[in-house]
Amino acid sequence: MQSGPRLARWLLLIFLAILLGAAAPGGAAALRNAVSVTAITLDGFAISWGDRRILIDALHRAAAYGVTPAIETAMREALPPFDADLVLVTHEHIDHFIADVVADNLRANPKAVLVSSPVVIDAVRAIFPELEEGRFVALSPTLDRKVQITVAGVRIEAFNSPHGIPAVLNLAFLLDLGGHLFFHPGDLVGMTTDGSDPSTRLFDLGGQSLDLAFVPYWFLSEPSCHGFVRREMAARYLIPMHGSPRKLEAMLHRVASPSFPNLVFFENVLDTWVLPERDRP
Ligand SMILES: [Zn+2]
Repeated sequence: MQSGPRLARWLLLIFLAILLGAAAPGGAAALRNAVSVTAITLDGFAISWGDRRILIDALHRAAAYGVTPAIETAMREALPPFDADLVLVTHEHIDHFIADVVADNLRANPKAVLVSSPVVIDAVRAIFPELEEGRFVALSPTLDRKVQITVAGVRIEAFNSPHGIPAVLNLAFLLDLGGHLFFHPGDLVGMTTDGSDPSTRLFDLGGQSLDLAFVPYWFLSEPSCHGFVRREMAARYLIPMHGSPRKLEAMLHRVASPSFPNLVFFENVLDTWVLPERDRP
């Protein structure tokens, strides 16, 4: 006489499934489209979108930037969260990119595709020439021409993002994660509101509104740059970067938080933040 209790158990499970589906806005679809960000180093992040993983400037070994030997091993062996579908590198400086760490990661994780500047791609290919062509996408946007591409189901726009060093091509990335728009300008420096024409844009975002922008902290610690941030990187949430999470919060609390109530601070490296869904009309 098992059928009674078994049926009751199934009914209970079905009831719970309906309850859970109703509790999450959009149910399973919303979960599939959920986006979270894990702080890896002071300027590098892992983004999780549904079952997809994206790394930006998150494979280097700058100890001063929070990379411990255990984290470096996880990077090289492509252990979570370093098991990415898409590896993005903004430029070749050692606090954003170490060629042999990226090369080890790509070798350990056959699904990962590296998208970056030709200099970065060439440095990785020189270490592991046997990695197939399809594992690399080299992008060379100019100041007046962005580049668009879709890799691993992620629509990417890449911009030339001035670093103040002409020999260095620094990329800004706009990522479309199922309608969530994320922006990372790499080491953008030297741009302020002073003398720049407010009617022109450095980054042509096509009028799209951003959900999240990673912002180098120097644009936030300097009030004369706040207009630039509003014009070029207006987003629902801003994550200050290029400093230790705790130090950034202490530094920006007084000078930036009143102007930008939507700053997101991480307590520590490897902490994760989940992007709240937009309010539905
Ligand atoms: Zn740099």
